[in-house]
Amino acid sequence: MTAAIDTHCHLADPKFQGDLEAVLARAAEAGVRTIVSIGAIGSIEADELTVAIAERHRNVFAVVGVHPHDAKDCSESRLARLGELAGSKKVVAIGESGLDFHYMHSTREAQERALRSHLELAAQLKLPIVIHCREAEARLAEIVGEAGMPPAGGVVHCFSGDLAAARAFVAMGFFISFSGIVTFSNAGAVRAAAAAVPEDRILVETDAPYLAPEPYRGRRNEPAYVVKTLAAIARLRGVEPDRLAELVSANASRLFRI
Ligand SMILES: [Zn+2]
Ligand SMILES: [Zn+2]
Repeated sequence: MTAAIDTHCHLADPKFQGDLEAVLARAAEAGVRTIVSIGAIGSIEADELTVAIAERHRNVFAVVGVHPHDAKDCSESRLARLGELAGSKKVVAIGESGLDFHYMHSTREAQERALRSHLELAAQLKLPIVIHCREAEARLAEIVGEAGMPPAGGVVHCFSGDLAAARAFVAMGFFISFSGIVTFSNAGAVRAAAAAVPEDRILVETDAPYLAPEPYRGRRNEPAYVVKTLAAIARLRGVEPDRLAELVSANASRLFRI
């Protein structure tokens, strides 16, 4: 692999606390040159730690926001703190925000309110938005349609919808990011989308420490494993993994301006 990128993982997760440097070294060894790390899960401390990690590592960038699971805690003061954190040059996007109607850890109302606030914040800061969407594709498209796409664009990460939903998001201006889900045997619809998304809109991620791709499924995921997902998607698209890695790096550079 020449130069891969992991466009979405969570390096501030407690599961990486003991051996983060070793995780980053393995990523570098696997050819993963750049990592985009998302805070957002849990409290504001995850965002603060994410920015601190990015400031310590030249090739790590940060994204700050409130995950839809925690949308109930998306207060005005927390949004203001996110705005402050985004002052760091290493913060390249706002998120992940969005809708998760599968787990429903926050009410639908709270998730939709938080999503609108994040869209507004991203527009204000001229940053792209990172979207999490699970079993809510139609509603997400409606809300972004009403509120407007942030001028700097955005990505629907860990895409789990079908090709029609992917095409609708591409038409709105989104990039589509695929995770290790494409390597799971029951993910035919996601694979069909990964095979057909336009080459100037495709991204690839781990979502580590979650969702390890085959053959690591069930273990802690880490950025080095993005090469497995890149290889699987390259096969689906009939291109060389190096060529796909190049495309994804160029797309990520455009979206995140890195
Ligand atoms: Zn997510
Ligand atoms: Zn995530």
